[in-house]
Amino acid sequence: MPKKHSNDKRVNILLVEDEESFVDALTIGLDREGFDVAVARDGQQAVALFAKETFDIVLLDLMLPKMSGLDVCRQIRASSEVPIIIVSAKGEEVDMVLMLEIGADDYVTKPYRLRELVARIRAVLRRRETHESVPTSDDEIELGPIRMDIDARRCFVNGEEIKLRKKEFALLRLLLENPGRVLTREVLIDRIWGSDYVGDTKTLDVHIKRLRTLIEDSPKNPEHITTVRGVGYRYEATKPSA
Ligand code: CA
Repeated sequence: MPKKHSNDKRVNILLVEDEESFVDALTIGLDREGFDVAVARDGQQAVALFAKETFDIVLLDLMLPKMSGLDVCRQIRASSEVPIIIVSAKGEEVDMVLMLEIGADDYVTKPYRLRELVARIRAVLRRRETHESVPTSDDEIELGPIRMDIDARRCFVNGEEIKLRKKEFALLRLLLENPGRVLTREVLIDRIWGSDYVGDTKTLDVHIKRLRTLIEDSPKNPEHITTVRGVGYRYEATKPSA
């Protein structure tokens, strides 16, 4: 993401939407919230506009004339890491896992409140920033309250060491290596347990639950290891702001 002047907070949004009522309401609402909005009314227009101008984030409707939202997402991802939020209509059959696989950052379902949408947009942008500012090192990961010393297999929360079992360590490491990204249950299970994973599909949740009791201030209202319902989990370094 290009660095902007600190007093220039306006964010460029590419709004891909074919329903006029949504376009009108969003253009006005998002402008008021400090976003600059460019509108594409079909998939082809979206791809063309994206190639021509620079955007900070893309808000992408799924059902579009000429080219589907999924194809637009694939096309954009072929050349750009720009954050993409997918918008689907209520009752539409949506494969969340597929959307994340093709590189969407988040999704919202119509109808939604402008406030909810703006919160999602800001959260996605914030996660990207956090992600980009993390210095990576081979043997140490430090992110939010957690520091992991990979070689020594030690883990610290706010400077205090916690004891993790082997799979718990591997699971936490994988989450920290992908900050802000949703990791699907399938990916987590495959990467941590692989063919060792037998029977009980609750094993992953049990491990997540134990990690939360160790790292969260309030394990029942987790702020770092968050659940993406029906899809998987993600690690957020910064607490969601109120
Ligand atoms: Ca549509």
